[in-house]
Amino acid sequence: MLKFDIEKRDGLARVGVIHTPHGDIKTPAFVGAATRATVKALTMKQMNELGSQAILANTYHLILRPGVELIKEAGGLAEFCSWHKPTFTDSGGFQIFSLPDVKITEESVKFKSHIDGANFEITPESSMQAQWAIGADIHMAFDHLAKSEDKKDMEEAMHRTHRWLDRCVAEHQRIIKDVTWAGDETGRGPQNVLRSKNFGEGKVSAGPAQMQYLYAVVQGGTFNDLRAKSAKYCAGQPVDGFGIGGVFTADGMDEMLKTVNSILPEDKPRHLLGMGQEPLDLFVGAEFGCDTFDCVGPTRMARNGSLYTYDGRINIKNAKYTHDFSQLMPDCDCECCKNYTKAYLHHLFKTDEITAKVLASIHNEHFVVSVTDQIRQSLLDGTFQNYKKSFLARYYK
Ligand SMILES: [Zn+2]
Repeated sequence: MLKFDIEKRDGLARVGVIHTPHGDIKTPAFVGAATRATVKALTMKQMNELGSQAILANTYHLILRPGVELIKEAGGLAEFCSWHKPTFTDSGGFQIFSLPDVKITEESVKFKSHIDGANFEITPESSMQAQWAIGADIHMAFDHLAKSEDKKDMEEAMHRTHRWLDRCVAEHQRIIKDVTWAGDETGRGPQNVLRSKNFGEGKVSAGPAQMQYLYAVVQGGTFNDLRAKSAKYCAGQPVDGFGIGGVFTADGMDEMLKTVNSILPEDKPRHLLGMGQEPLDLFVGAEFGCDTFDCVGPTRMARNGSLYTYDGRINIKNAKYTHDFSQLMPDCDCECCKNYTKAYLHHLFKTDEITAKVLASIHNEHFVVSVTDQIRQSLLDGTFQNYKKSFLARYYK
């Protein structure tokens, strides 16, 4: 089982440490969205320097390009992208169910690649195999995201998610058995991971029994009775943690998380999937018992010139910044804020320089990572409610 230590609790909120084969994650933590094994516009060195503890890659995108066998050949995700810290993969379900012409049966999901129209089929079993080949520390079970907000659709998708979870668990356990057998004299699992010996920091310290871990995904949409059912089902499975999926806004999220996280076992970590673009998501998520978050929003907004400040987001492309020689956020210690002015960032965006996207992404990613780190610290200090109140009042005015 994945080792998770809880240092402090405050209601449903907790401060903890997830111990993965690639190192520890101090929670609550914001996990960088490395969809195609890269965080857009950022190098892994920059991600490391801005304080990121972990990244999450997307199985759907990696299956299409470059293919999971190539990542395995490279020695796994961490080696391939040179991120020698904890890694997650999501199952790809979310992306696949957003595609047009998806054929869903009990057995599998069939879809066409958004790149070249090639036919693909994913089963719960093949998603597990793909995630093991990619080799992230933490995998998500293959879940069915409902096509609509209609309760009947939601319920059907939830039940299928549960049936598929059974298959994911069985396949995950079958692979663990195989991998353990395939381990070398060091007792470590997948032979590919051992290649990381060649790269200074990349040493893997996992025990012999298990190198990669599985999270069940709780579904149920905006219906708290379905969320409760789903949480109960997932809680009863032999998994290492939980993803909470299908959440799109903070509206009603507090009640939903109260329901779900009061049911999920306390001693396993919980990841709020795809949330964290708004600081409110992070505060509510942490307050009601989520340990990690991921979202493409912060870097996507950065590339469009929408930048976080403590006084809310600003659009740096706005003409009023042409002669503004102040720092973006004077008390931010990211590379962007420490060295450049708003006028310079404005110029880079207006001239469509690549550096604009790089600096903006450094700042936005650093912002969400450090706000989440501050949430952690405030929970430790017992000042969370004050921090939340003052932060949100200033940010959302
Ligand atoms: Zn900054």
